[in-house]
Amino acid sequence: MDKQNRKAIIAGNWKMNKTATEAKALIHELIPAVKDAGCEVVICVPFTDLVTAVELTKGTNIHVGAENVHFEKSGAFTGEISADMLTDLGVEYVVIGHSERRQYFAETDETVNKRTKAALAGGLKPIVCVGESLTQREQGVTEELVRMQVKIALNGVTEDELKNVVIAYEPIWAIGTGKTATSDQAEEVCAAIRKVVGELYGETAAKGLTVQYGGSMNAKNAEELLGKPNVDGGLIGGASLKADQFAIIVDAATKG
Ligand code: PEP
Repeated sequence: MDKQNRKAIIAGNWKMNKTATEAKALIHELIPAVKDAGCEVVICVPFTDLVTAVELTKGTNIHVGAENVHFEKSGAFTGEISADMLTDLGVEYVVIGHSERRQYFAETDETVNKRTKAALAGGLKPIVCVGESLTQREQGVTEELVRMQVKIALNGVTEDELKNVVIAYEPIWAIGTGKTATSDQAEEVCAAIRKVVGELYGETAAKGLTVQYGGSMNAKNAEELLGKPNVDGGLIGGASLKADQFAIIVDAATKG
């Protein structure tokens, strides 16, 4: 089956949580909890926790990601962080276009595209977030909207670069709300994402793409969501802040 040939990735998105001191404690708990994972395990942490996370996870199976990256290489962009700054630290992944960034920080499909290209050029693996609001779902435009978000995000990304891209389907109405998409809803949109990537890059590239679901995934619902053929992993917010909960999700992805 195609799914077995793809990399399942469980990525925690810590958002604006955990001081470096708190991060240290959580990572110490996480290391033994996920050491036997049969999937890729990533923690995407605030910029101030990156050094701690990279240092503590050396020699373990935990990979480290940032939560955003600027699209310019360097220069007069006070407060921003470049891809080179992240890779130099040993960071491997970066979340791009999270709905919270779109909602609160004026992120657009165009800036998502610029960040995705800058991340790839700098040697990072972008986790590109797409997803509809509740109104858009109710208007019946989810598929069109997500197709458009994917197309714009990947504009100018080569087939070779696509191998390092992960797409996370994150319905906005399910993020941090406790409302999870049903496994059928998640499967439907993850399949649509793979389809549009197939149209852009061909079937082989689409079959190799890791598509995650994110939105209130937790220890209870992970197995069902991750059991779906087009759901290759999860982007986990709240439940990634508790080592035992995160480890259960990692186990569910291992079963796939
Ligand atoms: C997220 O932040 O990407 C997310 C999915 O959050 P939560 O799991 O808390 O809904």
